[in-house]
Amino acid sequence: MVLQNSQHPCGKNARILLTSVFGPYAQDDEFGSQKINPMELWHNQVTRVQGPFSLRMFNRSFGMLFIQANISAPCVMLDFPTLDRFIEEIKNNRYDIIGIGSITINVLKVKKMCELIRKYQPEATIVVGGHVANLPDLHARIDADEIVRGEGVRWFREYLGDDTSQPLRHPEIPTYVDYRNMGTTVTIKPRDRTATLIPSVGCPLGCNFCVTSAMFGGKGKFVNFYNTGEELFEIICQLEASMKVQSFFVMDENFLLHRPRALGLLKLMEEHDKSWSFNVFSSANVLSKYTMEQLVGLGISWVWMGLEGESSQYAKLKGIDSRALVRKLQSYGIRVLGSSIIGMEEHSPDNIDRVIDYAVSHDTDFHQFMLYTALAGTPLYEELKIAGKIKPETEVPTSDHHGQFRFNFHHPVICDGQETEYLLRAFHRDFAVNGPSVVRAIATTLKGWRRLKDHPDPRIRRRFEFEAKDLVKHGVPMVAAALEYYRDQPRLRSRFENLMTELVAEYGEQAEHFAVAAGPFVLEKIREEEHRLKTGWTYEPPTFYEKNSVWLEMENRQAGNLTISQTRLNPAAP
Ligand code: SF4
Repeated sequence: MVLQNSQHPCGKNARILLTSVFGPYAQDDEFGSQKINPMELWHNQVTRVQGPFSLRMFNRSFGMLFIQANISAPCVMLDFPTLDRFIEEIKNNRYDIIGIGSITINVLKVKKMCELIRKYQPEATIVVGGHVANLPDLHARIDADEIVRGEGVRWFREYLGDDTSQPLRHPEIPTYVDYRNMGTTVTIKPRDRTATLIPSVGCPLGCNFCVTSAMFGGKGKFVNFYNTGEELFEIICQLEASMKVQSFFVMDENFLLHRPRALGLLKLMEEHDKSWSFNVFSSANVLSKYTMEQLVGLGISWVWMGLEGESSQYAKLKGIDSRALVRKLQSYGIRVLGSSIIGMEEHSPDNIDRVIDYAVSHDTDFHQFMLYTALAGTPLYEELKIAGKIKPETEVPTSDHHGQFRFNFHHPVICDGQETEYLLRAFHRDFAVNGPSVVRAIATTLKGWRRLKDHPDPRIRRRFEFEAKDLVKHGVPMVAAALEYYRDQPRLRSRFENLMTELVAEYGEQAEHFAVAAGPFVLEKIREEEHRLKTGWTYEPPTFYEKNSVWLEMENRQAGNLTISQTRLNPAAP
């Protein structure tokens, strides 16, 4: 039975466990895990064919961390548990509420976890949220008490009887976990780490396929956690001080869309001499409404931008020359991740190569390709469902609805699984033509440095010093190794030779020294990683177990009380 908007009888005293679904993730199993879909966003859908050059890292379940930081009940967060670790937790610790956060494809894991909770903690209330909640028949698939659609902090506050108007605390969330590239696990110094920042959720543009927009209300809707530049500035100052960071990954579907807030933040950054850098998601139409001076001043150093497809009808791309926009951004050192969709209505076997070539011609630093997918909760899903075009789960199970394998609907002209090959063709062509993304990003960083290192504003100069500080010591050996790796591929070899020439022109003997001294070492690491991957090597995230401050206070109180009662009952106890 699904009860919504009720209140838990324990209120703020409820003991809460929040957990992500269990791993391992990079394997094919009966719970819907898939080897092609590990718990690695970047490797999954951006650099998946780039072998040893692929970015390997994990991102925390930041939505639940945000909830944990903003409720007044004692709460433990268990992130990336194994099945055994999850069972151990619910067997040995009593909870009043157990919340599971999941995306749609992991519905079988959620089902299994609900069964285990009923077995080991039948008194606990089971709450399920995240994208999986968009499945219209979820209540029939799993045994949960509460299914939460949309924004979870407000829901939990209401459920516990907390004041929903309290300002939101921002948790400290390092963006990357176990960052690995070119065969090396990168040790990131505290100052070089990136913190996750969540100013809003949802996007009012409401593209028909967009599940994150749909989850928070769809077209015209969004939820601001921080409304003004002042509020955001204060939060960023707090994170800067507590985490000692100056770089932020902004988990906001369309950060720059909230223009007064962004420009308010810029004004305060100027007044307080802040050289922060931001990695953001932004649609092309929104980006093009800012001047380059504003984007540079605001510290925009990396952008994830939807390109979708040449003839797509999305308003966000109307009248925009996206290739010119990408080149312009890169010329100011802004690295671009372009996102293209394969298998839109107008795509066909006859035009698919043209579609791919158009995407590849953007020469973005990174390129995500996704299959056009009708995910539950989106307008596209509703439209295709009414038209009877959604494939039944006997044909395409929910665990395949991740956009990297096959369609979950009947395409007008692409059939028989052709889309799987088209998608891989797009990734491979982008990689073959433009080379490893990490090397492309080095080229863009160098462009930004050369253009802005002498900027009259010291605040801007400092940021580019920060961004370019590793170009010689790390960037040069990476380019030298890539150059050697692609020695037999004239197009890429020439591209990397030119880049190396530019690096040497900029940094002189120092660059030559690092190319010779460290390039062969990086190449060796690349070859080792290549060998590991060929033998089926995979990566899994570590498990995190974190208590919020209320839980820690509760433990301290209990420890104090326990000591007193032990002393009274058993004076001989140590
Ligand atoms: S612009 Fe991007 S985030 Fe916004 S609705 Fe469209 S796809 Fe989603």
